[in-house]
Amino acid sequence: MKKFLIVANWKLHGSINMISNFFEYMKLYTSMDLEQNIVIAPPTVYLERIYKKIEKTNIVLGAQNVDINIEGSFTGETSISMLKEIGVRYVIVGHSERRLWHHENSELIAKKIYLIKKFNLIPILCIGETKEDKKNNATKKTIIKQLNDIIAVLGSSVFQNIVIAYEPIWAIGTGLASDPKTTQLIHEFIKNYIRTYDSSISNVLVQYGGSVNPKNAKLFISQPDIDGLLVGSASLNPKEFLKIIQIAYNIYKSKNI
Ligand code: PEP
Repeated sequence: MKKFLIVANWKLHGSINMISNFFEYMKLYTSMDLEQNIVIAPPTVYLERIYKKIEKTNIVLGAQNVDINIEGSFTGETSISMLKEIGVRYVIVGHSERRLWHHENSELIAKKIYLIKKFNLIPILCIGETKEDKKNNATKKTIIKQLNDIIAVLGSSVFQNIVIAYEPIWAIGTGLASDPKTTQLIHEFIKNYIRTYDSSISNVLVQYGGSVNPKNAKLFISQPDIDGLLVGSASLNPKEFLKIIQIAYNIYKSKNI
């Protein structure tokens, strides 16, 4: 089966009750022979509770954020060693909401990626253009800048064992998903760009994120260079999320790449 990754980004949503209903429903998922292709990234406070529910399944744990310090006087933060200790395997970085609301810049994002990799966890680096960029035909320019900013600090080998999530900002949480064919071209562009920078990097997974739901998931997943999905709102509903997983499983199983 082609390697793929479906990530649930719960953002600031969830409750103890919601978690128990969610995983009761997700038990259906254990009948699929998936290989740790599903990641749940809940709010930090629920990570451990969810780990206990998934540790004997193929679902793995993701964090939505990490600090750039390992320990010390940094009130309110969570370190990479803490995340690793409680079973986290993936960490989302550079999400547009953190870039916007928490003023995270490329330098900070690069530091986070460095630490995540140092602790042998996998960063999910979010990149993508604004509505304005799209209007000005500047999607590729924005993507190149976002990639180059990271390469400038960490070198192009940073893209070994990393997941990239292409998330056009105008598509996040708006119900206006990107066009799957255009998205395919952008994914191909991202992969080629990284390859021309460093030809030894051939295994970068590039996910799409932005208003994915069970109705449009198939159109994205059927594209050759879309290696998975980063799902926000639809991942809060276990029925919808499971439908997306089932669609992905069936399509990627038939893609014998
Ligand atoms: C996201 O925030 O990463 C996301 C893709 O959200 P949504 O699916 O709700 O657009």
